[in-house]
Amino acid sequence: MKIKYLSIVALFCMAFGCSQKRENAFSGEWMDLSYDFSEQTIYWVESDGFKKETVAEGQSEKGFYYSAYKFCTPEHGGTHLDAPRHFADGRQTVDEIPLTNLIGAAVKIDVSAKTSANRDYQISVEDITAWEINHGAIPEAGIVLFQTGYGKFWGDRRQYMGTDGTADQKHFPGLGKEAAQWLIANRKVKAVGIDTASIDFGQSQTFDTHVALMTQNVSAFENVANLEKLPAKGANVVALPMKIKGGSGAPLRIVAFIPN
Ligand SMILES: [Zn+2]
Repeated sequence: MKIKYLSIVALFCMAFGCSQKRENAFSGEWMDLSYDFSEQTIYWVESDGFKKETVAEGQSEKGFYYSAYKFCTPEHGGTHLDAPRHFADGRQTVDEIPLTNLIGAAVKIDVSAKTSANRDYQISVEDITAWEINHGAIPEAGIVLFQTGYGKFWGDRRQYMGTDGTADQKHFPGLGKEAAQWLIANRKVKAVGIDTASIDFGQSQTFDTHVALMTQNVSAFENVANLEKLPAKGANVVALPMKIKGGSGAPLRIVAFIPN
């Protein structure tokens, strides 16, 4: 009888976790890594921006306050996700990305010392291995976020993009193709993110890093906010895009949880 009771308790704990664990599951700090969406949000110069129109706003005739709006946005602007389909035919669209690829242990690699003097800097394998010497190996199947420091320019298009002009005048740092390939081959990363407008550097013409990641069904998070506040390791990231059927990308609400 006692054995039976204990096995029931064990089964319950396996299914739901012990009560102490449940109480402490959200003991820690949540951080918002997303920018808000408004007419001021930075999009590619050659694309439309975010548009919000008022459908209703104010006191209704029946005595209650009522507001409703409608919005229109390109997939790739503001804090957003690039689905593998963005640069790889036949790979996952936004709605097809498994939740497990959008949630997980995350590390932050700060390369701002390299990028402050070089707008066209491409993050290298050496930047990653140097980080690992100080912090240990990147967890397998984790999420890697790159802090270039360009987030401090958010809100100032010219500073953030390196230009007010056309596509081939953009100057901001990105993740090098070799580093992306190294992360996939050696650390099996499931997603990467960056505090610039694109995972490829601004001067890229062939988007090699996008192609390298997305042919392997690895998603990218772009225009990620507040990376300077994120610790180098120990965070868990939850990055949930709007679930657009067949989408190549989508607005993204990305948050980090740092347990106590
Ligand atoms: Zn994008």
